[in-house]
Amino acid sequence: MHSYRDLAEAIGHTPLIRLNAASEATGCEILGKAEFLNPGQSVKDRAALYIIRDAVARGTLKPGGTIVEGTAGNTGIGLALVGASMGFKTVIVIPETQSEEKKDMLRLAGADLVQVPAAPYRNPNNYVRYSERLAKRLAETEPHGAIWANQFDNVANRQAHVETTGPEIWDQTGGKVDGFICAAGSGGTVAGVGLALQPKGVKVGLADPDGAALYNFYTQGELKSEGSSISEGIGQGRITANLEGFTPDFACNVPDSEALPIVFDLLRHEGICLGGSSGINIAGAIRMARHMGPGHTIVTILCDYGTRYQSKLFNPDFLRSKDLPVPDWLDANPRSLP
Ligand code: PMP
Repeated sequence: MHSYRDLAEAIGHTPLIRLNAASEATGCEILGKAEFLNPGQSVKDRAALYIIRDAVARGTLKPGGTIVEGTAGNTGIGLALVGASMGFKTVIVIPETQSEEKKDMLRLAGADLVQVPAAPYRNPNNYVRYSERLAKRLAETEPHGAIWANQFDNVANRQAHVETTGPEIWDQTGGKVDGFICAAGSGGTVAGVGLALQPKGVKVGLADPDGAALYNFYTQGELKSEGSSISEGIGQGRITANLEGFTPDFACNVPDSEALPIVFDLLRHEGICLGGSSGINIAGAIRMARHMGPGHTIVTILCDYGTRYQSKLFNPDFLRSKDLPVPDWLDANPRSLP
């Protein structure tokens, strides 16, 4: 019998799941790393754990201390759960636009929530910049001090993927992996896995949603963006510290109209329930497979669980309001039984 000593030990070592339709459509093996099986149901548990451990090791986060972060939600959920298991408080600054389900989960996990209007990074009231100022104030007033987790520019985030996600993918495929691709929020996942696997000859790609600037940066050297996406947690407009020193071998731009049907089909035909960023990732994996040709093995990230987006991604009215395709079965639910 084997049991984990605590929550921290239960983070990571997630399975790879073959994505059948994507594999069959491309003649490649497309494998999804099931990060939604982490305790906080997202890939960000890994970064949260590494950021907390690093701050404890540096002596900046003291027993009973407070962790402050600006987050689209998933990092906050990871910080709140790991924090609860280690006796830390969390204060989370989140853009109002993020799903209510993520906000509810943050409250449940004991985080204090501060909601701010969505604003670009150059605006001082952007959620990340607001959280930095709040952390400085709380460092003075909280009885046991406070730290700013700073997932975007704290490279403890990508170190989680250098040390765990990348090596797990290598071991789980027995080194038979040709490509890896995912989108970037902080960039910790793509750059961390890239730094771990590029030296072993794995090609690493970036899948960018509409409204993000990295695709243009890596293909034309210019940080510029067009359009928007309903996906949450991804879509970066600058080179964060986590992205520094990393260069993708392949980059593509994926519109929601291509990513969402993949999410809907996976749920109904393969039983895998995912959020929107995973759809961008899988669409990116399909494009990378077509670019590399049949016979390759390509891994991507299944970032978080779909129930987190019930009120948006799986809501026909919301989809229609964004001019996005609504699958018939979603419109027909619940069907009446005799
Ligand atoms: N998908 C979702 C749903 C996320 O919340 C995040 C992180 N914000 C990502 C993908 C991107 O991960 P990373 O920060 O490692 O780039």
